[in-house]
Amino acid sequence: ADEILKVRDLKTRFFTEEGQVNAVEGVSFDVRDGEIYGIVGESGSGKSVTALSLIDLVESPGRVTSGEVWYRNTELAEEFRDENPEAVDGEFVDVRRLPKGVRRSLRGPSFSMIFQDPMSSFNPSLTVGEQIAEAVEVQRRARANPRRTRSRTQGYGLGKMLVDSLVPSKSYVQDASMDRAVELLEQVGIPDPVDRADEYPHQFSGGMLQRAMIAQALAGEPDVLVADEPTTALDVTIQAQILNLLRDLQRDEGMSVVMITHDLGVIARMCDRVGVMYAGEIVERGTLEDVFENPVHPYTQGLLGSIPDLADPAPRLQPIEGNVPSLIDSEMGDRCYFADRCPKAMEDCLQRIPEFDAEKAGASDDEHRVRCVLAERQYDESQALHDGHF
Ligand code: SF4
Ligand code: MG
Repeated sequence: ADEILKVRDLKTRFFTEEGQVNAVEGVSFDVRDGEIYGIVGESGSGKSVTALSLIDLVESPGRVTSGEVWYRNTELAEEFRDENPEAVDGEFVDVRRLPKGVRRSLRGPSFSMIFQDPMSSFNPSLTVGEQIAEAVEVQRRARANPRRTRSRTQGYGLGKMLVDSLVPSKSYVQDASMDRAVELLEQVGIPDPVDRADEYPHQFSGGMLQRAMIAQALAGEPDVLVADEPTTALDVTIQAQILNLLRDLQRDEGMSVVMITHDLGVIARMCDRVGVMYAGEIVERGTLEDVFENPVHPYTQGLLGSIPDLADPAPRLQPIEGNVPSLIDSEMGDRCYFADRCPKAMEDCLQRIPEFDAEKAGASDDEHRVRCVLAERQYDESQALHDGHF
């Protein structure tokens, strides 16, 4: 399958009183058409900030400071090829190099997002149907005129995406948009969608509200849906229903999903490929089988426990002794960030930041890759063997 998104060396910093915090420290990965790409890590590993960075939602004092987010979109590539050639590579545009208004107009029809807590994602004083209709409306308008759009759901979860988007007052929300909202509610499995559309968020259960948030996220028919811990706040049976729903939608709509979670069970059940995050970096990535059945990075091995088992329906993160390192720039240093907790740490690990093992050979994104001194050495040895130096 083709890539829809190619993320390259993305860095996001928070400029705080304690100093510069390197929340995302050079993250790269590809997302393909119609796949579910998993990003897994402990809390504080930078996975949520990575998600927000992808769709330009990082708030002050945070800022994406460098890197590229290449998004396949032939229309935009055509539009900017002459005007801004740096922002275009074949069918791809670098979202970060597009004008702000254009970038924002991508939220909804190109990228959408769902969050952990559906309750804080809706405005309590508007009906669920109105808010979904508004998302439909805003996105229709944003398409027509990317530069002026504002929404009343602004500040509420998904509404954050619609900052600077035009606010349709109630009379603005056209019947057609309300009809579409009801359709979306039906699509996400909400019974009696016509009646439920007229209810307020507090009248919905957590699971139903999570479905409604997904409906809202689908309003713009996104190419990429970013799901940040979408089931963490729900009880186990509801979790399974929501995951099934997401997978069905992903299949039916052909969209790509980036699934952010600390739950290895969610990854095992949903994802095609996965990146493991630690201290703002992806330390291991590959197919689900590569990473779960043959983990190479000591951190991944630790997470999965000594006997990783894909058949285990609910593998859990194993606690690893020691603390996540400080992400304050001045305290990080050029060393493996996992060294303090790593059972295999050596002198070399404290001398520099390890590279991905096969990166230098220009390996394809299909390959299992590990950012660790041990894996680098193994790789060098196997190359030397291959080149006949032994
Ligand atoms: Fe452990 Fe060294 Fe690999 Fe870091 S580079 S994970 S400290 S072996
Ligand atoms: Mg998080």
